[in-house]
Amino acid sequence: MFEPLGYQVTAKPLILDEQFPEWGASPYFAVELQNTVRLADLLSHLYVLIPVLDDDKHYWVGDEEIEKLLHHGEGWLKAHPAREQIADRYLKRQRRLTRIAVAQLVEEDNTDPEKVEVSRALEEKVLEQRISLNEQRLEAVMTVLKASGAQRVVDLGCGEGKLLRLLLAESAIAQITGVDVSFRALEIAKERLQVDRFSLAQQSRLQLIQSSLIYRDSRLTDFDAATVIEVIEHLDLERLAAFERVLFEFVRPKFAIVTTPNIEYNVKFENLPAGKFRHRDHRFEWTRNEFQTWAHGVAKRFGFGVEFRSVGTEDLEVGSPTQMAIFTQCK
Ligand code: SAH
Repeated sequence: MFEPLGYQVTAKPLILDEQFPEWGASPYFAVELQNTVRLADLLSHLYVLIPVLDDDKHYWVGDEEIEKLLHHGEGWLKAHPAREQIADRYLKRQRRLTRIAVAQLVEEDNTDPEKVEVSRALEEKVLEQRISLNEQRLEAVMTVLKASGAQRVVDLGCGEGKLLRLLLAESAIAQITGVDVSFRALEIAKERLQVDRFSLAQQSRLQLIQSSLIYRDSRLTDFDAATVIEVIEHLDLERLAAFERVLFEFVRPKFAIVTTPNIEYNVKFENLPAGKFRHRDHRFEWTRNEFQTWAHGVAKRFGFGVEFRSVGTEDLEVGSPTQMAIFTQCK
């Protein structure tokens, strides 16, 4: 990573614990870099390449990261022989982001207008596919919510607040609560929703709570509807039972909408290697049968009725990309 930029590199493996040499090597290295460069360039190299070597970023990676990568990589990244790998790791292996970043790097040194057009089109296609499924999912959720007449809605695992934005735009919904375990996601939600510009009335309509869905939280009671959009697959399977009790026994809304990927559809994603989940943090992905069996089971145990909808383009054989269960509390 550093040698193509003119550095001399020495890397010594460290042992895990000097007192217990039999434990073997640690995952860390002591690394020395030598070069004569401008301080600003050195800092840019470190800024990009340390998370690349680490192969992890300990915070949310979104579209803004592409800008950061291209900004700090200016003047060196496009000529780097490992630029694809650097972009891939820097963007936490989110293929959509990597493809956009690499397309922009290629575009910079590519004066052939046809090729530029191809890379732009690719960028757009990747984006559009993603946006349209996301939008279709949110739209499907909003349709069910509006028909239910819910006035107090809690979005469990609200993430960056995409659904919260739509809920806020719906004047019939009086009280909106977003819950997520990730402080960072809630900060992004606040920024995107521009909560700091809210009037007092708007402020009292929206509540954001940092909490984990596998523990009871006394702030989460008295809701007409709960939404759990693309969240259950992020929970360890052995924690799912705890979550079921939180949602259906403790929060116990009149309606609950739960969505999750349909793993059968994954064969339709041309870039997804066979056997891989759609997201690195997914702990499981279910077939339609697995999801429906789970949903029928919890509905029965907790006194709810359940029906299913498919979201996104439906394929005759493998169904739709997203599956949705709508639970209604039995009177
Ligand atoms: N519902 C959002 C976000 C889905 S991503 C959307 O559709 O865009 C999954 C979200 O679940 C992430 O924001 C993650 O932080 C959250 N999450 C994962 N485990 C959780 C837990 N135990 N408690 C609360 N939130 C959790």
